Amino acid sequence: MVARAGDVLADLIARPLAPGLYLVATPIGNLADISLRALSVLARAELIAAEDTRHSKKLLSHFGIGGELTPYHEHNAAKERPRLLARLGAGQSVALISDAGTPLISDPGYKLVREALDAGFMVISIPGPSAALAALTSVGLPTDTFLFAGFLPPKSGPRRARLEELKTVPATLVFFESAPRLAKSLADMADLLGPRDAAIAKELTKLHERVTRGTLGRLAEDLADAESLKGEFVVVVAPPATDETGASDEKIVEQLGRALKVESFRDAVRSVAEVLQVSRARVYELGLKLTGKRE
Ligand code: SAM
Repeated sequence: MVARAGDVLADLIARPLAPGLYLVATPIGNLADISLRALSVLARAELIAAEDTRHSKKLLSHFGIGGELTPYHEHNAAKERPRLLARLGAGQSVALISDAGTPLISDPGYKLVREALDAGFMVISIPGPSAALAALTSVGLPTDTFLFAGFLPPKSGPRRARLEELKTVPATLVFFESAPRLAKSLADMADLLGPRDAAIAKELTKLHERVTRGTLGRLAEDLADAESLKGEFVVVVAPPATDETGASDEKIVEQLGRALKVESFRDAVRSVAEVLQVSRARVYELGLKLTGKRE
């Protein structure tokens, strides 16, 4: 069966690679997480633009992939972008990779993608690992609506202002955080977001992978005493309690009126409660009034 995987990869590699910009997700720790398609694109691309060429060379040589590598990172992006676009203009295939995970997710590439699309080049995502989704899906918090908030600002003032903005968002929040800032960020989250359930996903897919669950206050408290932390972390925070989302009765009734045109009473109550992150009991009560079943 495993030999078949080798055949599939050989088949992919034997095909020509169409010109275009390929956004290739690479592992976030465990090298075995690379996809066959990612390997086949990296093996065939005429140019690989990498955030850190030395780092990516290790990944590529692990899989026996050579090829031309060029650096593309936040400090040289403005200068390098026209060169990459020129290669695309010459009908070549260019792969973009970051140090780990999915390019553009708290990593360079957004402007390159935008300009490539504006110039009419093909842009293809080769999906794969991303710390944000790996964390979100493994910590037992709601996954139906989430907001990826990337890194919080490093300084406390702007960080707290950003948390104020996020406070009422009716969604699970996903943050990246670095080891030296984790304790301070969690303390600010506990202070501003309130007693919500949360989780810290550490070193996903690696040897010291670990998920710690608890309220924000508890997690912040535990970390306050921790010695110097090491590793990579994602913090996932449950949505606010229903009354923090600020959904008014009018808003609920308006959505319910729309939902009732296409759904049964029961389904409409459930979907409106989910979308607005309010309790089903509240939507049910308002629904009874709306439909005249109760004065
Ligand atoms: N583009 C990457 C992705 O899609 O996962 C993220 C790049 S961002 C510069 C790096 C941050 O991602 C780290 O500081 C950490 O918050 C998170 N991260 C990356 N790898 C991780 C891992 N194996 N476990 C936990 N968090 C990780």
